[in-house]
Amino acid sequence: MPDTRLTRARQLVSEQGWAALLVTPGSDLVHLTGYEAMPLERLTCLVLPARGEPTLIVPRLERPAAEEAPVRLVDYPDGVDFIRVLADTLAVRTGTVGVVDAMPAAHLVPAQRLLPEVRWEVAGRALAPLRAVKTAAEIAELTSAGSAIDHVHRRMHQWLRPGRSEAEVAADIAVAVRDAGHARTDFVIVASGPNAASPHHTSGPRVIEPGDAVVVDIGGTMPSGYCSDCTRTYVVGPSAPPGFAEMYAVLQEAQRAAVAAVRPGVPAEAVDAAARDHIAAHGYGELFVHRTGHGIGLDTHEEPYIVTGNAEPLVAGTTFSIEPGIYRPGAYGARIEDIVVCTPSGARRLNTTSTDLVHL
Ligand code: ZN
Ligand code: ZN
Ligand code: ZN
Repeated sequence: MPDTRLTRARQLVSEQGWAALLVTPGSDLVHLTGYEAMPLERLTCLVLPARGEPTLIVPRLERPAAEEAPVRLVDYPDGVDFIRVLADTLAVRTGTVGVVDAMPAAHLVPAQRLLPEVRWEVAGRALAPLRAVKTAAEIAELTSAGSAIDHVHRRMHQWLRPGRSEAEVAADIAVAVRDAGHARTDFVIVASGPNAASPHHTSGPRVIEPGDAVVVDIGGTMPSGYCSDCTRTYVVGPSAPPGFAEMYAVLQEAQRAAVAAVRPGVPAEAVDAAARDHIAAHGYGELFVHRTGHGIGLDTHEEPYIVTGNAEPLVAGTTFSIEPGIYRPGAYGARIEDIVVCTPSGARRLNTTSTDLVHL
């Protein structure tokens, strides 16, 4: 698989008119070589030239771990100027070189200084098509990730109870995310009561009370490298805060409208508008403070972004979140998030638990 990916990436390097692409540790390197490198102060870098052999530069001590990558390896011992090793491997003094978004400034800036005639280009946008459209095998991995995180949400009644702090509940969930089959827990947001009005709240000491609405947004990375991300909103006890149920009903309809708007050829921003227009029509427009969604794959956040201004048409095989939220500062908040895959006939949800408000 990485072999075909390297071939496609090299085509893209040619199409862009670049002399080469530099890929430092991160999900792009995993995608192209299968090698999950440790990000270090030492340089690890795949040099993918438009012509010639791809070469992975690694610190000598990382060589055994890097052997799994299906490319030529060049290693260097500690004490050697690895920016010179990079310049020698790159073997160009002029022209344009693309670099992945994640390349550390500590490596890029010295390379720029050593090769002042080279034009440097951030490659993220150009590389996006390589990863945005998933293969059947990748969709299968994301489907397993979706089932795994759904399993954790189904167990929420075991942890989310009055008298427990957000941090205690989050610690239990973090263990459950791994128990459900993830290799690691990436994030756990437990935002209760007024804290739920902060979309990226950090779970803290607040003790959950009866009548709280609680936003639970959780995700992890499977052993395959593919990610999960799913939000449900719960109410603790039989009665929700005044006005909350009405607001939640609008949010649920908005989320369904956005899922229903997904189809190949539809601009990404039209999916955002489907949720946003519905929320605005009910008078909550000012309270929906973020985009509707983001692509997901080897990274939790990647292309395509479901946001105003992204007129790019959706393509079958892309996978992304649909996660509108409504946040009333000082009072409460709610969000519903599903990962969907765009199929020729519309969205298929990879998270399949009900989006109805759950009372625990
Ligand atoms: Zn986010
Ligand atoms: Zn998300
Ligand atoms: Zn999320």
